[in-house]
Amino acid sequence: MQNDPLDVRCSECGKAAQFFEPFRFTCVVRLPEVPENSHVWGRVVVEELFPEQFSWEQPDCDKPKFLQPGETGVGYRLNERGMVWCKACKTFEASTISWPEDAFWKLNVKGHELVARNREHAEQILGFLQETQRAPNRKPALRGIPTALLTRRLQQEVSNKLERALATA
Ligand SMILES: [Zn+2]
Repeated sequence: MQNDPLDVRCSECGKAAQFFEPFRFTCVVRLPEVPENSHVWGRVVVEELFPEQFSWEQPDCDKPKFLQPGETGVGYRLNERGMVWCKACKTFEASTISWPEDAFWKLNVKGHELVARNREHAEQILGFLQETQRAPNRKPALRGIPTALLTRRLQQEVSNKLERALATA
């Protein structure tokens, strides 16, 4: 249910900043007791992690539903409103982000866009690109790589660009 933190481009200094969801969602069966000051949304317990900036408002549906960027409908929209922390310029503030437009790990090769959620994900993608014998079934985290970028023709260029980005960020 929980997403790992996203790296976005800091609007102040342009370096990599971390985006945090303002709420923690836990399935009710996983908690021995419902923590104080939390909310219950169907089978999900919602904790406010930054109560001064974000208070919980239940979406207009009784059954918990989480929307990823680009998905429409009623539910809680992930990767949109939250806290952004930039280690480089010491900014920590409530922000609204656009994903994947604001992604820090983003590169374009011959019109094909590659987006990684964060540094670990970028490293994982690089490792995959550099494998000589790729497993035929991609792990879920690697399914978003445009197929064109995996061709012999482009793979080297993508891998070089990604390697350079990882070394200089
Ligand atoms: Zn910054």
